[in-house]
Amino acid sequence: MVKKADGASNFRSGTVVIVGRPNVGKSTLLNRLIGVKLSIVSRRAQTTRHRILGVHTDSRAQIAFVDTPGFQLEHASPLNRTMNRTVTSALLDVDAVMLVVEADKLTKQDEKIISMLSETVPVVAVVNKIDKLKDRTALLPFIETLRTAYPFAEFVPVSAEKGTGVEDLIDAIVNYLPVGDPVYEADTITDRPERFLAAEIVREKLFQFLGEELPYGTTVEIERFEHEGPLRRINATVIVSKAAHKAMVIGAKGSKLKVIGTRARKDMEQLFGGKVFLEVWVRVKQGWADDARSLRSLGYS
Ligand code: GDP
Ligand code: MG
Repeated sequence: MVKKADGASNFRSGTVVIVGRPNVGKSTLLNRLIGVKLSIVSRRAQTTRHRILGVHTDSRAQIAFVDTPGFQLEHASPLNRTMNRTVTSALLDVDAVMLVVEADKLTKQDEKIISMLSETVPVVAVVNKIDKLKDRTALLPFIETLRTAYPFAEFVPVSAEKGTGVEDLIDAIVNYLPVGDPVYEADTITDRPERFLAAEIVREKLFQFLGEELPYGTTVEIERFEHEGPLRRINATVIVSKAAHKAMVIGAKGSKLKVIGTRARKDMEQLFGGKVFLEVWVRVKQGWADDARSLRSLGYS
């Protein structure tokens, strides 16, 4: 438990959901807020498939941040429908919402998400990627545009990538949380098990090293996760839907898979704080992305 200052009962504790269209930097922001890489980041939209909880604790407050998959408005596949449901349910039962938008760029998709916000919960507009702005004076008119779109509680310009403004964002959010005891231990960063995080890390490397080539519907399962003293022994299987995709993931003479495995292992060692022995395999399983039943069996419901 977090030690409170003597006699003080003004510690705040609450849940904040991070919403926004794909690619605005929600996962990058969550990682910044927590201080470790918890949620996977990619240039390609739609890398976050699951709800990720990241916990920030300091001497004043504990904030449980929920990163959501971006809304997928264009394609109505079962996978996208499942993800949209995850977002909608994440908006209930929270103390505040952070809507992330890109500085100087308000798209139809942003507007659609803004129209889905409930006015019963305070919404902080996080204007991200300010490092990309050539002209900082563009920020003010942009904020004015946002102000006319929705009664935001506050506007906080940040660069999730560089870390600019992230402390200000935490200061702003704390004001909207109720006074209360922390729910998680002070050193807790997520409610997700290591097994899940391991699969996410492998997924991130697949996005990173296959880029646009990564076939839609590729997923990762952890077949084995064992502790041997301080060592973690992890076997991961990359599941693809076609034999041709398997060859792409493996690469010439196994070169792709090797770099994916090495980088994933390094990130796991950093996140788990110990040595990891990782094996990555690739297996073909036909058509799972189109099959709602197999989606459920993989835990996407
Ligand atoms: P999400 O889909 O909203 O979760 O977005 P991600 O966190 O996966 O980020 C999407 C892309 O935007 C990645 O390539 C990030 O590196 C990039 N990105 C995120 N935040 C910033 C930022 O503050 N500045 C810049 N220049 N790029 C960013
Ligand atoms: Mg994301």
